Parts: sequence; structure tokens; C-alpha cells
Amino acid sequence: MKRIKNIVVVGGGTAGWTAACYLRDTTAPYIKITVIASKEIPIIGVGESTTGLFNDFLKQVGIPEGVFMKETGATHKIGIQHRDWYKKGEHFNSPIGESQHTPNSYPSDDYDAMKMFSIAEGLKDSSLQGFCMKHNKLPFVRADHPAQNPYKQLMGYGGFKDLRKNNTALHLDTYKTGQFLKKFFLKKPNVEYIDDEVLGYEKNEDETIKSVWCKNKGHDNPISGDLFVDCSGFKRILLKAYKNNFKRYDDQLLNNRALAFHLPYTDKTIIRNYTHAWAQKYGWLWMIPLQNRYGAGYCFNDTFTTADEAKLEIEKVLKTKIEVQKDIKFHSGRFEKMWVKNVISTGLSSAFIEPLEATSIHATLLQMKHWVRYFFTETADFNNEALQTSYNDDMTNMWDSIKDFIVYHYITPRKDTEYWREASSHKRWSLQLKEKLEMWQTRTPRQVDFARGNRNDFYHIDDNLWLNISQGMNILDKDMVKRELIEYNLYEGVKQQTQHAFQFFDYAQKNCVKTNDYYKYYVGQ
Ligand SMILES: Cc1cc2nc3c(=O)[nH]c(=O)nc-3n(C[C@H](O)[C@H](O)[C@H](O)COP(=O)(O)OP(=O)(O)OC[C@H]3O[C@@H](n4cnc5c(N)ncnc54)[C@H](O)[C@@H]3O)c2cc1C
Repeated sequence: MKRIKNIVVVGGGTAGWTAACYLRDTTAPYIKITVIASKEIPIIGVGESTTGLFNDFLKQVGIPEGVFMKETGATHKIGIQHRDWYKKGEHFNSPIGESQHTPNSYPSDDYDAMKMFSIAEGLKDSSLQGFCMKHNKLPFVRADHPAQNPYKQLMGYGGFKDLRKNNTALHLDTYKTGQFLKKFFLKKPNVEYIDDEVLGYEKNEDETIKSVWCKNKGHDNPISGDLFVDCSGFKRILLKAYKNNFKRYDDQLLNNRALAFHLPYTDKTIIRNYTHAWAQKYGWLWMIPLQNRYGAGYCFNDTFTTADEAKLEIEKVLKTKIEVQKDIKFHSGRFEKMWVKNVISTGLSSAFIEPLEATSIHATLLQMKHWVRYFFTETADFNNEALQTSYNDDMTNMWDSIKDFIVYHYITPRKDTEYWREASSHKRWSLQLKEKLEMWQTRTPRQVDFARGNRNDFYHIDDNLWLNISQGMNILDKDMVKRELIEYNLYEGVKQQTQHAFQFFDYAQKNCVKTNDYYKYYVGQ
């Protein structure tokens, strides 16, 4: 069997550079890794919100988070604020990384009694992350903070003590992120970067790709590889080399267009610690805080409004003129095969769903990691269809599940425009989503509901984020949630735990760092 000696990554966006860094970190040093990306084809780059998997990626490849943030202008994200989704004029916070698994494992490890209590009692922002979102603070105190800290279990975090239980996430400037990762990658041994545009490919007899050829190097100087990673964004240059169906989610998710723009900060701007997802007449507006500006955009359906009208609508909402930098048309959906022969794809080349919960970079990282951990061998047989089917099943289940989670946000009583009447229609619910809704009428959501028979239990957007939306959109019956807590005999204990948490918040209120101070004085330490 042939040994892999050359891996070729096509694309230099977030997917390309993260894949290249990850593969360099995890594969044998004798394997050469080449990245081909054309400077003439811009990356998507709209200001991206991530999940904790990006922090994990930085840790895995050995990039200190503080250094990364200083050089790229990234900010900490501890949640998403959903505004006007349930009712106009109302908002709810969806903190991330807040879940508190039941300490005595009863009724199950993943039963989050604290969260259930806050749903049952209609408490808002009853986790540290939620509290910090409300008060524009980050859940850190300086390591040398003189205050008596009554919470001895606090972890160290650079020059800070980190009060968080789990990792949180980052908001990225994807241009600067790409530049940073490229520099980092090119310092590694046995790597190469080629600035050129891939125009075609040549196949071996067994249909695997033998080489690609580029615009400047020409047809006579092809670049050979044993494994190709398609990270060419919406161009999907290599995945298209095979018969492969793109399964659209248009029947379930309406949005198909996005206008992206920058919003400058003023001297008075408070740098938010959350992504803002603000429902509008025909879609929703994202505002992603970087250290020096917002990356913003309107994601909508262009059969209900035109791009010009959408721009005017947003200018009215924000009370300022905007300059649209990108007008992106898209179809939410995924390929049926993300690994075919010796081509695997990650990032936009394999799938995309409207960016409501920062699932794209999350899935990009998971796709690569899952493949390397469970499917990669140096003597891989790229004609082994069973292996490919297994991986592709995992990926398609993951994406279908993400799609259901995004549809879940549209279960709203809002009916004020034709768009909202259409988006919230029951006909957009998949069978799996309907099943979940039915189960959750009788008992609260558990991890097992997301892994039923489809092997996607490596997919961890599930419990915490679904619960946030269940709470914010009032989907779960509060009486049922309370009854369940009482039946498990957890109600009184968790009530006390919640009071204890609120004492902790008093401590946090006095001692945690304000977002603006953090970026002004401390970031990069
Ligand atoms: C409107 C919108 C909002 C988004 N918001 C978020 C968010 O908040 N959170 C999130 O996680 N994700 C978000 N995403 C998705 C996110 O932008 C992508 O997952 C991420 O940027 C990775 O993109 P990519 O690297 O796959 O593609 P791209 O950034 O498009 O990069 C493609 C690369 O391929 C190169 N290339 C293409 N064709 C060729 C060729 N023939 N030869 C050589 N090189 C080629 C290009 O030069 C480029 O370097 C959003 C996407 C959109 C459209």
C-alpha cells in the first residue's frame, strides 16, 4: 500500500490554514504539507464568531491565546445575545460553556439541575457567563488581585485567574487570523506555500487525484499529492471532481443572502463580550465585536426584500449609513460526501448554514479532527468505500443536526411579516426535530437525544446551546421542568446552590475586569 508523503491543501481561508496547522501538528514530520491559495481570490472574511473549539485548536497546535488575541484583534466571546427573536422589544442571553453537570450523577451526568432551576423559575443570566454578559465584564480577575477570593477552585489564566468552569470562545478577524496562522505554519519544517490559482487536476487510474495544475505554474508543472484537502470555500474546486450531491436545506432554512459591513467604534463604545444576533423584518443582523470595530451584516431572504431595501432597513435600525463590503448569495446545505477517494473537504467547500450560532468554523475544526483521529493512517487505502461512508455518515448527521438547531431558533410566535410567518411554519421542521419537540413535552432535553443511533455523539453543540434557546424562546413547559426537578429530589438543593451562585456574582461584580480595560491594558500579557 502506498504511504502518504505529500498532502496538498487548496485554499488559504480559515479552513485552509487551520487544516494545514492541524495536519502539521498531528502527522509525521516526513510528510510534506503544501498550501496552494490564490491571493486574487478573496477569502469570505466577515468577522466571525466561534465556539470553544477554536480555543482548543490554538492550544492543540501550541499558539498562546493571549499572543493570538494581541496580534489579530480577537475578543473573548462568552455568549450570544438574541434580540427580538421571541418578541420584538425582548432579548435573551445565551451564554456558552456554563453547563454544570449534576455532581452526584443523578439522574444522569448530563442533567444540568442549575439550568433546569433557572428555566423552571424564569431566572435570567443565572450563570457567571450570563451575569458577565449583562455587566460587560469578563470572567477573570487579575492573578495578583488583592481581594480575598472565597472561591479557591479558580483556575489560573495567563496574568489572570479565570473564573470560568469551561472554555469560552473568540470573535475573529478572519483576515488577520489567516495571516497569523500562515506565519505560524510557515515556520514549521517540511511545509510550503504557493500563491497560485488551481485551474484543474489530473486523476490516477483508480480515480484518485494525482495532481493539480495552476494558472501561473502552468499545465506542465503540476503539483502532485497523495492526499488533497479542499478548502477552496464556495469554489469547491476539488470536491466537484466527483459525482456528489449538494443537499440544500432551503426547504427548512429561508435565508439565502448576506450583506456584510464594518461598524466603527467611538470613544464611548463598550466592547461587548458576546455576539449580537438581532432579528429584523426579513432575517437577522449580526454584530461581532473585535478589538477595534464590529464585523456586522444582515442575513436575509431576498425574495421578501431586495438588497437595496435591506440596506436601508439596517441603516434605519442602526441610525447610521453603512457601506456594504460584501454581498454574498448562498444556499444553506451540505455535500453528501465530504470525503471522496483522496480528497477531503472542510470549511465552506463542504457545507454552510446561515451563521446564527457560529457553527461553520466549529464544524470545520471538527471535520478535520474527526478525520485525523479516527480515519487517517499513513498507508490509507483511498479506495476503501466503507471507511469513507462511515466518515461521511458522521459528517452528514452532524450537519443535519446543526440545521435542526438553527431551525429551532425560528420556533417563534412572531408573525409580523410574511418572512416570519414563513420562517416559523411547522412545515420547516424535520422529522427528527418534531421528535425532539415531542419528547421534550414529557421530559427535559438530554445528550442521549442528540446521539440516538447516529453515532454523532462527538458533536457537542447539543445540550447547553439547545437549552439556552429552549429557555429564551419559551419552548419548554416550566411546570414540567419544575416537576422533574422535584421528582428527582433536586429542587431544594439546587435552590441553595443558585443562592450560592448569586453570592459568587457579587464577588464577580466587584472584582472581574471590564471588557474595555481588559483590551486596553492587559491583552497579550
Ligand atoms: C455571511 C457569512 C457569515 C459567516 N459568519 C460566521 C460566523 O460568525 N462564525 C463562523 O464560524 N463562520 C461564519 N461564516 C463561515 C466562515 O466565514 C467560514 O467557515 C470560514 O471563513 C472559512 O472559510 P473557508 O476557508 O472555507 O473559505 P474562504 O474564506 O472563502 O477561503 C477560500 C480560500 O480558497 C482559495 N481559493 C479558492 N479557489 C481557489 C483556487 N481555484 N485556487 C487556489 N485557491 C483558491 C481562496 O483564495 C481562499 O484563500 C460565515 C460565512 C458567511 C458567508
